[in-house]
Parts: sequence; C-alpha cells; structure tokens
Amino acid sequence: MILSEKHQMMRKLYRQFAQTEFTDELLDRLEETGEFDWDIHKLMAKYGFMGVKIPVEYGGQGGDSLAYALMIEEFARVSPVLSIYANTSNSLGAGPLLFCGTEEQKRKYVEPVAKGEKILVFALTEPGAGTDAGGTLTTAVADGDYFVLNGRKTFISGAPMADYAVVYAKTDPTQRGSRGISMFIVDMKLPGVSCGKPEAKMGIKGYPTSDLILENVRVHKSDLLGPLHKGFATAMKTLDGGRLGMAAQAVGIAQGCLDEAIKYAKERKQFGKPIASFQGISFMIADMATEIEAARQLVYSTAVRKDAGDPEASKLCAMSKLFAGEMCNRVAYKAVQIHGGYGYIKEYKVERFYRDARITTIYEGTSQVQQMVISGNLLK
Ligand SMILES: Cc1cc2nc3c(=O)[nH]c(=O)nc-3n(C[C@H](O)[C@H](O)[C@H](O)COP(=O)(O)OP(=O)(O)OC[C@H]3O[C@@H](n4cnc5c(N)ncnc54)[C@H](O)[C@@H]3O)c2cc1C
Repeated sequence: MILSEKHQMMRKLYRQFAQTEFTDELLDRLEETGEFDWDIHKLMAKYGFMGVKIPVEYGGQGGDSLAYALMIEEFARVSPVLSIYANTSNSLGAGPLLFCGTEEQKRKYVEPVAKGEKILVFALTEPGAGTDAGGTLTTAVADGDYFVLNGRKTFISGAPMADYAVVYAKTDPTQRGSRGISMFIVDMKLPGVSCGKPEAKMGIKGYPTSDLILENVRVHKSDLLGPLHKGFATAMKTLDGGRLGMAAQAVGIAQGCLDEAIKYAKERKQFGKPIASFQGISFMIADMATEIEAARQLVYSTAVRKDAGDPEASKLCAMSKLFAGEMCNRVAYKAVQIHGGYGYIKEYKVERFYRDARITTIYEGTSQVQQMVISGNLLK
C-alpha cells in the first residue's frame, strides 16, 4: 500500500520522535529499574500520542487506525515497551468507553486519558480466566445506588500507576460463560482497591504489570459502562483494535531486529569477509525482510478496512495479530542467530528485542485464540 502524503508525514514524525527521544540511556534505565517513566509519558502526551486515535471532541487527535498502527510500529522499532505507553490509552483503555460510554462518562474519563493526564487500564484476565475470559469469577452485586465488586484480576498492564480501570465482573451468576458479565469503570483510589507487586517479566520492562485486587469495592451505578450483563461483547470489540495495535508492535519489533541484523552482518567479518557476503546469512535477511513486509501490508490494509466498516475486520485483526506475532518471533530468532554469540549478550540491542518479541504471541489473545477467531469465522 502506498501511504497518503498525510500518513507519510505522520510516519516521519513518529520515526523522528522515537529516534530522538527514546535514547539508549532511557531504554537502559527502563530495563534496569522496570519502573514507569513519567517524564517520557508526559513528553509523549504533549505531542498528542496518547490520543492519536481518540476523537478530537474528547481531547484526542482524531486520527484513524492506520495512523495509530504507524505510530505503534515506529515506536516499537526503537522501543517495544515505549510503544505500549502510547498504546493503552488509544486501544484497550479508551476503547470500551468510546464504544458504549455515555456522553458524561466520555467527558469525564476519555478526555484526561487522551491528554495523558490520567491512565486508564483494561482489566479482564483473572488467574483462572485467561483464554477462557468468560470464566470470570469477579462479581458485582447491586446494592442501592452502588455495585459491590469482589475479585482478583491478573497481569494487568499499567495497573500500578493507573488512575482508573475498566473491570469486567459477573453481574448475573445464573448465566453461564461469557453471558451475564458487565463492565465497570473503577477509580483506583476507591477503598478496597489494591495492586499486587509488579511482576518480574522476561521483557517489556518499564511498563509495570500486576494483579488488581477488589475487596468490597463500592462502585457507583453511574460508573457501570454499557448495558448491564452485556459487557463481554464490548470487550471482544475493543480487543479487535487492540490486536491490530499489537500486530503493528510486532511489525515494529521485527523491523528493529532486521535493522540490527543488517548492520551487524555488514560489520562482522569471518573468513576474511563480512558475514553478509555469505548466502546463508544474506538469504536469512531476505526472508526476514519479506516476512516483515507481508505482515506490514496485512496490518495496514486491515487498519483501512476496519475503519471502512468491513464486516471481515474482526477476522482480519486476528489474522494480523497471529501472523505478525509469529513472524516477529521467527525474525527475532534469526536476528540473534546472525549476531552469533554476541546476540546472546545484553550489550547488543538484539538480545532485548528477542525477549520483548516473545510477548507478542501471548497478550491480547494468544496465537491459539487468534486461530480460534479466524477458524470460527471461516467455519460458521
Ligand atoms: C505482560 C502481560 C501483559 C498483559 N496485559 C493484560 C492487560 O492489560 N489486561 C488483561 O486483561 N490481560 C492482560 N494480560 C493477560 C493475557 O491476555 C493472558 O495472559 C492471555 O490471554 C493468556 O491467558 P493465560 O495466561 O491465562 O493462558 P491460558 O489461557 O492458561 O493458556 C495457556 C495455553 O493454552 C492455550 N489454550 C487455552 N485454551 C485453548 C483452547 N481452547 N484451544 C487451544 N489452545 C488453548 C493458550 O493459547 C496458551 O498457549 C497480559 C499478560 C501478560 C503476560
């Protein structure tokens, strides 16, 4: 796909920003401390990146899904973890509110999130309900003007520094599986809300992930999001957009790996020649570049088709995530291989990319879930 002039300009802006602001010093600090960096968050917010895909009337930039995919790709090419900083607000954070929030809820919650003043996270997964998200055990029981929430969410990206969370809870225990689930906007300062300790992760260090614990949390009924008992469908719709973002992230990580592999293959000499001159290496590079381009084109065209209301969009988002995530891991593997022993050493960027790549086939639905969505669409 040939990008319009407008999208080319955007890509240039995202690329320049990442290359200038995502310094090695910042990336090393995120890796070492694992802590959220408020300074870069504020700077990204100043540029409007937190609201690229959020409508202008709610404080965002009003961009389309392609603009969002380009941003995530360019950011992930330099720093997979910093691409998540701008991802949460644009997809799983504001997504459910934009889908079915009331005007009042959108004004109250989406605007400050789009501007980066507040952080809103998405809390669906539980210790016993991952792929089988319909197995949610968290409950919400009506009590006058309130709902009382009890339960435990796990692996919640950004929970430790969040202001709000969109929480999924069972409101009708008589209904089985994904039925009878509702969505709530939970203020993280409410009594009874707490977080587990941040997980020590393999990669994407610097965007804390933790449990979110709810003990008799009283949420006002005005913070019920969307129709009662029907929250799960919204979660699935929101995940379409999120998956596209994660597919773009996978393309960016793979491109970062290829950049490093090409640089290294031209520099490193064995048998008196740069290793790039050996077909065994140059063919690997050709395969990596071809796979990345195939995934990129799938992501871009899916973004455009999704915005055009294509009924195939849900399947295409799952295909993008499946293909790009798996592709990213194949490319990261080869990039380390091209670096030989040095690829196993932290000093080389490819080692971090390799670890960061691993999550792309797991979160926002594993590759197997994407296969379930795709085959479910084809075999109905
Ligand atoms: C770093 C990180 C950040 C995350 N951020 C968030 C977040 O912000 N919000 C949130 O709600 N969740 C988040 N998650 C959770 C993530 O979405 C889940 O981990 C993921 O959906 C898989 O669930 P699970 O870990 O329970 O694995 P399981 O569901 O236990 O799956 C284990 C394996 O079994 C396979 N499997 C399961 N069922 C089937 C089946 N029917 N057919 C074939 N294979 C199957 C899976 O594909 C997987 O390979 C995050 C996870 C991580 C690690």
